[in-house]
Amino acid sequence: MPPYLGESQESAAKFLSKIDLSGFGDPFRMEDILDYIDGIDAGNCAAKAAVDIALHDLAGKLAGQPWYRIWGLNPGKTPNTSFTIGIDSAEVVRQKVAEASAYKILKVKLGRDNDREMIETVRSATPVPIAVDVNQGWKEKEKALEMIHWLKEMGVVLVEQPLPKGQVDDMAWLRERSVLPLFGDEAVQRLPDIVKAAGLYHGINIKLMKCTGMREAFVMAKTARALGMKVMIGCMTETSCAVSAAAQLSPLAEFADLDGNLLIANDLFHGMEVRDGKITLNDLPGIGVRKI
Ligand code: MG
Repeated sequence: MPPYLGESQESAAKFLSKIDLSGFGDPFRMEDILDYIDGIDAGNCAAKAAVDIALHDLAGKLAGQPWYRIWGLNPGKTPNTSFTIGIDSAEVVRQKVAEASAYKILKVKLGRDNDREMIETVRSATPVPIAVDVNQGWKEKEKALEMIHWLKEMGVVLVEQPLPKGQVDDMAWLRERSVLPLFGDEAVQRLPDIVKAAGLYHGINIKLMKCTGMREAFVMAKTARALGMKVMIGCMTETSCAVSAAAQLSPLAEFADLDGNLLIANDLFHGMEVRDGKITLNDLPGIGVRKI
């Protein structure tokens, strides 16, 4: 559970125990069911996403179709996924980059005092494009702009959440001058947040655990595109269950950061696969998973 969203295993279990689906008989009435779930309590987005994903899986299985087909999306248009290289010693970073040679884009977390060193180390080991995620780590807009210029020279292709989400005026200033596309992550959780983000970011990072699941994520992707914004589909630390659910949407995204299942040792599912760096959807109905 991502700590900044305030959920825990206990809070999720408590939320799920409040659900009473006895008033619903038809799993295809997803709007009614998920409006009810969303109205039980505020927040609890990951717990709500659990219900949303299960319901989508059920409806897809009853219909005999994977969700990308129900949504009318082309599975050939999935993006490459980035693979995250964590902050570590130069030697370990180079080794991790070598192990990630199948990926066509790498993600590097910045926002500390060794940002340039980290990028130089990764760049010394590979020529692939780099996406950086600052996680609100830069505080001054002028310094952020200077870094963005330098990062572009270093082959970085996008910057995620450069400033704290509350620095709205600074973000508007930075977006106007930035030579790289800026993506909002912490600043954009649910659908209404996109409207506020439209003048501040070039794109948004959609995650099922932030936005209550597939129903809202699909509308968010369509809304962002209608507003001329780019779409990234991301994840938290998750099993292949949630990652495969998110992958169903990925033909709508220019960028994907769906490596959560690759960073855990206790995955319970087979699902979406990364082949030659690209998200590869299967023909299984629903969210495209089977239990290991
Ligand atoms: Mg992020």
